[in-house]
Amino acid sequence: MTNAVVNPEETVALSLFSELEKYEHEQVIFCSDKKVGLRAIIAVHNTTLGPALGGARMWQYASDYEALIDVLRLSRGMTYKAAVSGLNLGGGKAVIIGNSKTDKSEALFRTYGRFIEGLGGRYITAEDVGTDVRDMEWVRMETKYVTGISRALGGSGDPSPVTALGVYMGMKAACSERYGNDSLNKKKIAVQGAGHVAYHLCGYLRREGAKVYVSDIFEEKARRIVNEYGAEYVPPDQIYDVEAHIFCPAALGGVLNDETIPRLKVDIIAGPANNQLKDETVHEQMLLDRGILYAPDFVINAGGLINVANELEGYNQERALSQAREIYDVIKNILATAKKLNMTANQAAIHLAEERLAKIGQIKQIYAGKSQYAGRLGEMHQRATA
Ligand code: NAD
Repeated sequence: MTNAVVNPEETVALSLFSELEKYEHEQVIFCSDKKVGLRAIIAVHNTTLGPALGGARMWQYASDYEALIDVLRLSRGMTYKAAVSGLNLGGGKAVIIGNSKTDKSEALFRTYGRFIEGLGGRYITAEDVGTDVRDMEWVRMETKYVTGISRALGGSGDPSPVTALGVYMGMKAACSERYGNDSLNKKKIAVQGAGHVAYHLCGYLRREGAKVYVSDIFEEKARRIVNEYGAEYVPPDQIYDVEAHIFCPAALGGVLNDETIPRLKVDIIAGPANNQLKDETVHEQMLLDRGILYAPDFVINAGGLINVANELEGYNQERALSQAREIYDVIKNILATAKKLNMTANQAAIHLAEERLAKIGQIKQIYAGKSQYAGRLGEMHQRATA
């Protein structure tokens, strides 16, 4: 250890490759166009299974370094999500540094689209926090490597119904593990957030006879579910205290933390929100210590990814819904693996994802394509058999 004074920018430069090596990212692309105000980073984590697919997040990061760390973390998550869900997609993500309310323009998104086109299909973009369908339509003017386009333009449109079905099936799988049967009839379920996914999810839950409690910071959104599905309204600050079988985070990330976990009176956590655990290791362990079963968020909410993956093959909602139903078996397998290998559910999900990556990576070692000799061999074969 030396006492040399290192300027912070130099530290970033020096540690850049070690950040990429830490989680084995394949490629990171910095995209800049001062004229249109574009500053974006695209991270391709792993393409063993197929092209890297993941949304473009538009966010005002405190520093460029923070943006880089975010895109590295998110792209790696996409690799695991696709792998464990049985999709033939790799993991990628993009961040566009800026204010999504004031900094958007057609030129900015079309410029971003041109950078993506330049990657020749190694990365396929989509909407994410801070970007929407309209932005993706601008991107699409410059590249075909974009998903999440409106139904009117032949895309997959709103993914929420498919995500909701996946969460519903994942909840049933968690119940099967916890109670020995997967019925949600008469189960009490506390849903935090009454947005797009929660709305469709509550429909499934009520149709199966569950008792649903719902909260939202905008009371009228929760009231819609109360009125249409006969759920019970709970003020947002009281949702953690509801005595129920399942707590379903369907609003924001980071809601499972030091303050909220001790308040929970449930057996299972299963919901669509991304990054529910404030600290992945500490807070999953806290849940385990309290005997609460946790269905990993990135697995149970994979319906959104399944939906856009279907767009690549020509969208068919029935097929997307049928694939989302398979989340039942995926969650069951994860929980069984966790038990067998004495792992947490998150660890088991990552273990299964890595196992699939290794196996499929292995089969790709077998030569199965055309070589530069194919034409010549064909001619020789023709001559020999003439
Ligand atoms: P949404 O924006 O439609 O709904 C979120 C709701 O949560 C909003 O109604 C908002 O008012 C409410 N909310 C915010 N803070 C709250 C709080 N503290 N207490 C109670 N309510 C609060 O979003 P969505 O599309 O329904 O997605 C829900 C979650 O699932 C998000 O975390 C999203 O990232 C994740 N997710 C969604 C999809 C999808 O297909 N839409 C796919 C994967 C993951």
